[in-house]
Amino acid sequence: MENFGKLQEKLQAALPALELRSQEPMHRHTSFKVGGPAALMALPKSQGELSEILKIAAKAGVKPFFLGKGSNLLVADEGVDAFVIKLAGGLMKLELEGETTLRVGAGVTLAQAAVFTADHGLTGLEFVHGIPGTMGGGVFMNAGAYDGELVQVIRWAECLDEEGNLHHLDKDQMELGYRTSIFSKKPWLVTEACLELTKGDPAAIREKMADLAQRRRSKQPLEFPSAGSTFKRPPGHFAGGLIEQCGLKGKTVGGAQVSEKHAGFVINIGNATCRDILDLIRLVRQTVLDQTGVTLEPEVRMLGCTLDETH
Ligand SMILES: Cc1cc2nc3c(=O)[nH]c(=O)nc-3n(C[C@H](O)[C@H](O)[C@H](O)COP(=O)(O)OP(=O)(O)OC[C@H]3O[C@@H](n4cnc5c(N)ncnc54)[C@H](O)[C@@H]3O)c2cc1C
Repeated sequence: MENFGKLQEKLQAALPALELRSQEPMHRHTSFKVGGPAALMALPKSQGELSEILKIAAKAGVKPFFLGKGSNLLVADEGVDAFVIKLAGGLMKLELEGETTLRVGAGVTLAQAAVFTADHGLTGLEFVHGIPGTMGGGVFMNAGAYDGELVQVIRWAECLDEEGNLHHLDKDQMELGYRTSIFSKKPWLVTEACLELTKGDPAAIREKMADLAQRRRSKQPLEFPSAGSTFKRPPGHFAGGLIEQCGLKGKTVGGAQVSEKHAGFVINIGNATCRDILDLIRLVRQTVLDQTGVTLEPEVRMLGCTLDETH
């Protein structure tokens, strides 16, 4: 067990303006609306603060967890003995460099970045408009939708290592693949991304965003808390199609349900616990494996819980 009280004291002494919360309920910070308290949460506003936080945490031997909007995250009901650094709402840089290069801070939402590009007549980022995460979480996941992926527009990212030192990673160094990046292996914090876009017609850009939003509303259960697609797309298949084919649409465990609208989404239909969601994910995986021979890999990230544990 880490000594988070001591870490809190050190952080507060070094950074008196830093917002720190102890025993912060994580259900307030995840789109699933699930998760017990995190031992300590910091909500920094600047890169300077972040660099100092990382230095102090490293000295204390604490490995922080980086949180964006929590829109791809499942957190244990009993909470987590962890130091969480929340980026959403901090690092809000959104600046054009020249005509088509955009610098986006990690805490800016993908929707904010997309609207900004539309306002400036830049095309290439329409696909992120309906993805409810931050730029930092988007880079970590190489977020994508409707044939678009961040890898198509990103040039480089700025990151902080475990000791708070700044690094510049070119696109080729980030190992951006299908819902993955180097950051799942390397515990570095993405602070900023630089995107290269193309000049376009603002009306056409807005129309494309509206069209994609309409397609999402008609196909996805946006009226319920979820983390989006629960599983990655298995090669040659669609997760939702396989789940539906196995008769699992509407399958419910406690407050967790395989959406009737889109079988690729596990949703929280009311007071779902992390345990309900994990049990349903396990049931879906096992049934799909037994009936189709395909193994579904979760897309959703987990904090304080895993699929392997048995209750
Ligand atoms: C309704 C709905 C629809 C969705 N649709 C899509 C979709 O179409 N396409 C898609 O790709 N995703 C989709 N998602 C999933 C989610 O929005 C994306 O994965 C998004 O990129 C996650 O961003 P976040 O800020 O919420 O990250 P979080 O959920 O907070 O974190 C996700 C991972 O990123 C890491 N992380 C976060 N910020 C940083 C940072 N600054 N530096 C390093 N690591 C960081 C975290 O540690 C964690 O491992 C959807 C989710 C919902 C709820």
